Amino acid sequence: MTHEVIVIGAGFAGLSAATSLAEQGVRVLVLEARPSLGGRASVFTDPATGERVDNGQHVLIGAYRETFRFLRRLGTEKHVYMQPGLAVDIIDRDGRASRLACPAIPAPLHLLVGALRWNAIGWRDRIALLRMRHGGRRDADPRFTVREWLEWHGQTARLIELLWEPLAVASLNQSIDEAAGEVFGAVLRRTFTPERNDSSLGLVQRPLDELYTEPSRAYLERRGGAVSTNSQACVHVEHGRPLVHVRSHTFRPRAVICAAAWFALPSVFQDRPAALVSVIDAAESTAASPIVTVNLWFDRPVTASVFVGLPGRANQWVFDKHALFGEATSHVSTVSSGAAAIVSHGNQQLVNLALDELKAAIPEVRSAVVRRAVVVREKRATFSVAPGQPARPPGQTSVPGLFLAGDWIDTGLPATIESAVVSGHAAARAVTEFLKSG
Ligand SMILES: Cc1cc2nc3c(=O)[nH]c(=O)nc-3n(C[C@H](O)[C@H](O)[C@H](O)COP(=O)(O)OP(=O)(O)OC[C@H]3O[C@@H](n4cnc5c(N)ncnc54)[C@H](O)[C@@H]3O)c2cc1C
Repeated sequence: MTHEVIVIGAGFAGLSAATSLAEQGVRVLVLEARPSLGGRASVFTDPATGERVDNGQHVLIGAYRETFRFLRRLGTEKHVYMQPGLAVDIIDRDGRASRLACPAIPAPLHLLVGALRWNAIGWRDRIALLRMRHGGRRDADPRFTVREWLEWHGQTARLIELLWEPLAVASLNQSIDEAAGEVFGAVLRRTFTPERNDSSLGLVQRPLDELYTEPSRAYLERRGGAVSTNSQACVHVEHGRPLVHVRSHTFRPRAVICAAAWFALPSVFQDRPAALVSVIDAAESTAASPIVTVNLWFDRPVTASVFVGLPGRANQWVFDKHALFGEATSHVSTVSSGAAAIVSHGNQQLVNLALDELKAAIPEVRSAVVRRAVVVREKRATFSVAPGQPARPPGQTSVPGLFLAGDWIDTGLPATIESAVVSGHAAARAVTEFLKSG
């Protein structure tokens, strides 16, 4: 059976685009270069324990509307536990534990009430937070970093360390001394809306392949589509139309969506079609920001909470995967976002750093024995959102039938699942229009 549309790349962007088209009866072929699906949000099996391990912890937020639409399509929204209101356990650098819990009332009031009850901060911090309620909407110099932007908004050092820096580093995956303040402002405006659940965190209770990659494959196959792995695709533009080459095979679909990450675009468009030169140039000049995850198997339970924030440390969060996934899983994962300073350390050094930070914060870890440790480095986890990075492209190209998707597309969001899915759904809509017009 021939496929009308080819999607290149089986990450969140490609699979949301493909399933959206399949939902409308379009037969889609997804080509994925790797042996398995998921791209930067994928899973591997740990050979020693047999456990399914995510390449890194992925957290959703309530404001991820397109992501939840995608998951509803697949029937897997039930695998995401949504907090009734934003709640975060934190252990500060002095080892003091506290909980920021926001009541189920509209934002940003809920954050203000939560902060009023939060015993980790003082009155000066709370008053500064009140100022932020209005200040977050003011324009600032686009060259400001997140830290400069927060200081410009009168935020105290304590609030920055305990609240804003963890939120900014988690959402932008970059140090607050590098990432652009205006991008963080945009994230806050989308997250702290009057919709009370927008700022709640969504915790995925299954490995990522059960959340979206295998359900997407099944969804496509039921609708006449297919997914082909180990299929590194290359796109050529011939007589103004896109052709796709995989090994010795040439496909001439009616439309192509390239949903490869920004850093892979030069290898997809090897002959640099004139219509895409500026996009490929921008992709090549866009810097990446890494994430380091250390997965630790202890001989006993060590955390009382599903996840804990460790502000001011290299490993800013620890997640108890047993509490999330249940009996089949027994490890905890520490997450270092914006990990440029440590990504080139050796495995043992990264494990020791994670353990030292955990032991200093959580007394139960001090007497626990580590049975196994697995480090995952994602060197190009996300694109940089530092001031001065190249402009991100739109999903439309000037080549009829050729569309782009991926978190790097200009969605107004940082490199997140939501950005990938927003771009995927937009590309699917554009393809539908294109097919109708042809
Ligand atoms: C460790 C880690 C933790 C993260 N945590 C979060 C989080 O908590 N919340 C959040 O929202 N986001 C998070 N992110 C970001 C999120 O994972 C990405 O934004 C999202 O997965 C990007 O999806 P994508 O489809 O745009 O790109 P990708 O996932 O990179 O998918 C592109 C796919 O294209 C394939 N490909 C490339 N070239 C070709 C070719 N020539 N032919 C065929 N296939 C090709 C690749 O193999 C890949 O599978 C995290 C990322 C990492 C790495």
